[in-house]
Amino acid sequence: MRKPSFLMVCCALTLTLVGCNISEQAETEQPTVSEQEPTTTPEESPTESTEENEVNDVPEAEAPAEEAPAEEAPPEKAPPIELVPTEPIERDGQANLALDTLVLVNKQIALPSGYKPEDLVTPNIDFVDSATGERRMLRQEAATAVEALMKDAKAAGIDLRGTSAFRSYDYQVQLFNAYVARDGKEQALKYSAPPGHSEHQTGLAIDISSASVGYQLTQGLEQTKEGKWLADNAHTYGFIVRYQRAYEAETGYMYEPWHLRYIGVEHATNVHEMNVPFEQYLEQLMD
Ligand SMILES: [Zn+2]
Repeated sequence: MRKPSFLMVCCALTLTLVGCNISEQAETEQPTVSEQEPTTTPEESPTESTEENEVNDVPEAEAPAEEAPAEEAPPEKAPPIELVPTEPIERDGQANLALDTLVLVNKQIALPSGYKPEDLVTPNIDFVDSATGERRMLRQEAATAVEALMKDAKAAGIDLRGTSAFRSYDYQVQLFNAYVARDGKEQALKYSAPPGHSEHQTGLAIDISSASVGYQLTQGLEQTKEGKWLADNAHTYGFIVRYQRAYEAETGYMYEPWHLRYIGVEHATNVHEMNVPFEQYLEQLMD
């Protein structure tokens, strides 16, 4: 019981912290994330608050929470931790993989070259023919989310297909070198990432395009009903449109209405509502 209890507290704290940051954003007040160690929360110990939660979950409080049947409370399945507040964005000069679905990869921060997620699966969605093999794969959580997104899109008459998901380090080497050969390095850097710096290597990013632009990766997607549907709804499935036009100076990437990055529903909704680059969101979350 101890481990799930601790995790539940972490999770609760996390959700509280996220809320704090949003409400305080307008006042640009310093968030207090770093001070919120679970074990040093002054008001109540982790054990106490957890017991409270468990009691609330049990309809009839006759039996102690510990003896509740397994089906009453799901203690074996730890709730997902959306954020570990004490984890830095970078570790040893590289992307901090301990951030899990919040891992930050950008022009400055690279993944370890050998990194490949262990839980890659192929989502059951429509892909363009040119997307083959592991380039259709995503991490399990993102794959499940994109399946839901695509299912609902289809039901709404929105015709979308995946064009590129996971990319290995080696594949990105080939791709980036080809772009540099074609357009020169300076130009290539505006739309493609050097090896290790691609979000696609995280297994949490997928490029999606629509029939109305011939499934091309083009900014014209923005003007289509499919592109608008993505921009309006992706966050409700846990995805953000990572490279917005307004963020070009900060991200170093041109606007990519097709590039979706999975960060989970709560965080994606926050980013969508705050309308800030992912970098800025993480900094505010962790300050
Ligand atoms: Zn992409």
